[in-house]
Amino acid sequence: MTSREFTFELRVCQWAEREWTPARRAADSEGSGPSAVLVARQLGTRGRRWDTLVVECDPDGLAARSVFGNERLDSDLLHVVRNAPREWTYYRDALPHPGYPWRYVREAIHTASDRGIVEERRAGNRIEIRRKWHYPDWVRRIVAIENKPDLDASAARVLGDQLERDVALSLADEVWVATAAKGDGAEQSSAGTRSSASSGDGVEPVLFERLPVEAGILAVTRGGDGTPTSADVAWHPSSLRVDDPGTRILERPTGTGHDASAARFEYADPDWKRAKRLEIAERAYERGWRSYVDTMRADCRHFELRDDGDTLPWCAAKAHSPTGRECSGSCPEFTPEPPQWRTRGWPIEGGPGKGLKRLLARQRERRREP
Ligand code: SF4
Repeated sequence: MTSREFTFELRVCQWAEREWTPARRAADSEGSGPSAVLVARQLGTRGRRWDTLVVECDPDGLAARSVFGNERLDSDLLHVVRNAPREWTYYRDALPHPGYPWRYVREAIHTASDRGIVEERRAGNRIEIRRKWHYPDWVRRIVAIENKPDLDASAARVLGDQLERDVALSLADEVWVATAAKGDGAEQSSAGTRSSASSGDGVEPVLFERLPVEAGILAVTRGGDGTPTSADVAWHPSSLRVDDPGTRILERPTGTGHDASAARFEYADPDWKRAKRLEIAERAYERGWRSYVDTMRADCRHFELRDDGDTLPWCAAKAHSPTGRECSGSCPEFTPEPPQWRTRGWPIEGGPGKGLKRLLARQRERRREP
């Protein structure tokens, strides 16, 4: 991922967090009230990772979810927490057979008990469990956004193939492509100086034809000079059938005259889809989109966060927003924060880099509050 793609992605995440109006409109039209919105990035399944993920949440459900802590519940923990009974019960009587050995369930029970989200006790040589809270139905919809600032014909072809697979599987409720609006100039090297800002006026229509009609298109006008990123809907997506069986496309002919191979696919069971959606939402709940800073060298003296309307990481030595790969231990220009920066209370709390991490963590925490 280039620096330009990375910053575009962070800008789209911030726009979605502020203004995910498609979600609010949809929920309002169903009479269910506005959704709370959680945004994460680089999440999905083993075979498919989406750039930006918007989880539309039931606000009451989101509040009820918070008692289970900020850490995600993986599939094993979800199995225990969602099926734990109100009264003390032998765990094998309370939980449905997991489809894998019971010893893994016992491990998950111990983990859940250590985290304080399920009660566990021994009755003779039996383990009994009891729920502490009801696990809520907090996820309304999951929206996947693929970010392509430079959507040319060849990128649209590759993306079109990926999106067709997304549509066939229908794991997300909607899929979108976010691309730079026509007339939106290239990202400048400084997060603070975006010289060619102009309001976007859509996307090249010819590119539409290479994308499946079910995919929505966002024309993004990047932020800069104190103006946050904005986006217009250039094409509305279709709602995908998340409750129906999906089709996983494993292989498909290339479409050239020499390729006479047949397409290979398999069905994805609705139960698998339901479970996978919840696991993805749990990961989004834990990580949000600000977790990028966790893998960066925020303890480098050149590391900054800059706000040009959107908040972006910034390297003062290189004078651009570095990617996670660039801003790592192997960066030749890494320079530790000087010891003087760690005086006046810093020795305990760490230097300014740790302070920036805490700031982003606090912002992420606030987003979990509906
Ligand atoms: S010099 Fe390297 S490690 Fe330091 S902030 Fe810049 S990219 Fe990150």
